[in-house]
Amino acid sequence: MPDAPIPAQSDSPEARRYNRIRRWLGIADFGVGLVFLVVLLATGWSGSLKSLASHMGFGNYELSLFMYILLLLGISKVLGIGLDYYGFRVERGYKLSNQRFGSWLWDDVKGFLVGLVLGSIVIELLYFTIRQWPQNWWLLAWALFMGLFILLAQLAPVLLFPIFYKFEPLDDEDLKRRLVMLGQRAGTHVRGVYRWKLSEKSKKANAALTGLGRTRRIILADTLLDNYTPDEIEAVLAHELGHHVHRHILKSIFVQAAITFVGFWAANWTLHYAVDHHMFEELSDFANLPLLALVSVVLSLVLMPALNAYSRYNERQADRYAFESIASVEPFVSSMNKLAEQNLAERVPSKWVEWFFHSHPSISRRLAAAESWSKSQSASPRL
Ligand SMILES: [Zn+2]
Repeated sequence: MPDAPIPAQSDSPEARRYNRIRRWLGIADFGVGLVFLVVLLATGWSGSLKSLASHMGFGNYELSLFMYILLLLGISKVLGIGLDYYGFRVERGYKLSNQRFGSWLWDDVKGFLVGLVLGSIVIELLYFTIRQWPQNWWLLAWALFMGLFILLAQLAPVLLFPIFYKFEPLDDEDLKRRLVMLGQRAGTHVRGVYRWKLSEKSKKANAALTGLGRTRRIILADTLLDNYTPDEIEAVLAHELGHHVHRHILKSIFVQAAITFVGFWAANWTLHYAVDHHMFEELSDFANLPLLALVSVVLSLVLMPALNAYSRYNERQADRYAFESIASVEPFVSSMNKLAEQNLAERVPSKWVEWFFHSHPSISRRLAAAESWSKSQSASPRL
């Protein structure tokens, strides 16, 4: 398929610099994690850490495993905190964030605790299945993991997001009416639209479709609601509704299921290989956890371009849905331009950057798609 022509519009040096820094921060963060895992395995420190954890857990398997997870996550937090702080400084430096240091630190602590709780549940279940069914543990672990994943997708809007942000039902009657109209045309409706109080922490604007079933909702940042015209907000709503109509969350869960199936299979193969080659005493020796983490890290790196391509495909579909459901593409175009400016986004990233890193098509491509859709509409006679 030929690429849509990209308007000759270049990015400001500031936008380019900001996005380059963000990218390198991501790469550095990933690199630190990767090196940490490799060092733990290569030096045998994972075994020492396990001895310490067993001591702290009084020899009780589950408690010792929890201590091991706590130590592992604690050390990697210490290793990564400098980069986290630098990221915070960058957002402030580019005037994209108005969050104070105390608030940022508190968010970081909460993020760590959420990761500890969720990570512990998943890993305890993993080693439980390994101990009970050493041969076929990975199949059961995969099923349990997917069950948890679906539960979390459902609970996230009501349980996880409110830990970091405040949400309240949208009380704008005009916008609600527009959404109902959009939904009626599509033969569907989204129960909730929520005002997402992003402005307490960020100057960027954002919107998303989240949740499953009863918790399905569109969230719109107040930074968007307060600065965009009703027509522009309608265009954003239409895009999010496009995700809903095309069942993108459900489809992503199926994709996730397929990937984690391969991941668990690979983890099982790797663990058996390591035990057969006497790197660990037995499968349930949790000093091998860094090896499991390494399998998942490598797999996610290898699959990242494909997953981002899939995401960009979904985004194009949601954009297309928006073009079809709003009266003209102009408010879509102006909302995209505002978003690019407000978020200091790269309108024209290099091809490989977009291919590897971006979950959304670049703004220039989205605008070009809107333009060509609009042209194709005016070219064909309307009955
Ligand atoms: Zn989208």
